[in-house]
Amino acid sequence: MTVHVRFAPSPTGMIHIGNLRTALITWLFARSEGGHFLFRVDDTDQERSKKEYEDAIEDALTWLGMDWDDKKRQSDRMDRYSAVIDQLKAADRLYPCYETSEELNLKRKSLLARGKPPIYDRAALSLTDEQIKKYEAEGRQPHWRFKLNHTPITWTDNIRGEVSFDGALLSDPVLIREDGSPLYHICSVIDDIDFGITHVVRGEDHVSNTAFHIQMFEALDAKVPEFAHLPLISDAEGGKLSKRLGSMSIKDLRDIEGLEPMAIASLLARLGSSDPIEPFSELKPLIESFDFSKFSRGTPKFDVEELNRLNAKILHDKPYDAVKDRLSEMGLGDIDASYWNAVRPNLSRFKDIEEWWQVTNGPVTPKIEDADYIATANDNLPPAPWDENTWSTWTSTLKEKTGRKGRDLFMPLRQAVTGMDHGPEMGVLLPLIGFENTKKRLQS
Ligand code: GLU
Repeated sequence: MTVHVRFAPSPTGMIHIGNLRTALITWLFARSEGGHFLFRVDDTDQERSKKEYEDAIEDALTWLGMDWDDKKRQSDRMDRYSAVIDQLKAADRLYPCYETSEELNLKRKSLLARGKPPIYDRAALSLTDEQIKKYEAEGRQPHWRFKLNHTPITWTDNIRGEVSFDGALLSDPVLIREDGSPLYHICSVIDDIDFGITHVVRGEDHVSNTAFHIQMFEALDAKVPEFAHLPLISDAEGGKLSKRLGSMSIKDLRDIEGLEPMAIASLLARLGSSDPIEPFSELKPLIESFDFSKFSRGTPKFDVEELNRLNAKILHDKPYDAVKDRLSEMGLGDIDASYWNAVRPNLSRFKDIEEWWQVTNGPVTPKIEDADYIATANDNLPPAPWDENTWSTWTSTLKEKTGRKGRDLFMPLRQAVTGMDHGPEMGVLLPLIGFENTKKRLQS
């Protein structure tokens, strides 16, 4: 049996870390099994679905290094959904309901007030023809519910283990809106059947939907796929993912935050699993080590600091060849391998390299407040060639000669040489700025 999976986002908002994690885990599973990965766009909600969101999802997957074997759009399959819906109506598994949402709300509230679970009472099943006529004369259109069998529903989840629901304790789900449009549940199940999905991987917010879906697969005489429900990630304190990076769109993590895709992939692939979170430079080892049995049911914590650490480590290990083109695209094609190697251990974001280049190559307007001290510094500049020890040699000499120490010793030098109060480490910068440039800046 070839594994067939799908990632099925709704293009109703910008993709963020949580969705991307579901995509990555589903993809790693497919690739680890030599399986087939379907990218399914759940765009039946015409009002909220937008092409720009779909494009952003595609970009995010591609940016992380994922590919797909096929792509389908639910909006292209409406005829198929109608045909299956007719079949379910003919089999009496769909029934029309005329309650308004206010009426349903009242029912729910009254049940809750009496300490009862808010399960739909199936009142629509006992409507007389007359009542139906009356509703239709009032202009009410029915929505349609799927009639659940009141039997136990069980499955062995690839992450959660044994899961069971009692059909009698669930409300019959609405599959068709008043305007006749099919809802997520039915479209998803029809697609999963038609595209031969063997494993449904999705967030645990869908666990109770799965109970409905299993009965829908059965009602359509289809094989029920396996399921894996991933626990949703929380922030480091265990709350909802709302912290800056956790709630940012993937596009912003790339374009504004400047994160490396492999930092995100390294974290998302291992979060919530028993494998250690380590920096990886490619997806291959993550595919090879992937196994659902390593994932636990506990809520994994998304730690921004961990992402920052991974990002920095990935940059520190990046060979020059891997960044050469990116540097050229940024207009930094003059950066050579030795420059890159000197600076990379100090980068936390790739874009930091611009700041280094600016400081080493100028133009820089030196900031000189104490001209006498800077003159002394100039007189004591160590001779070329310079290396990573030049800064400490220079500052030790000046300490001895002037009696200055700490900030008084270092800050005027930084300000004169870089024109700034802060910035990359002087020890690394100095040899990159070089003797001539430094001298020029001190004498300006
Ligand atoms: N479009 C649904 C969502 O984004 C898909 C869920 C599923 O994988 O079935 O939540």
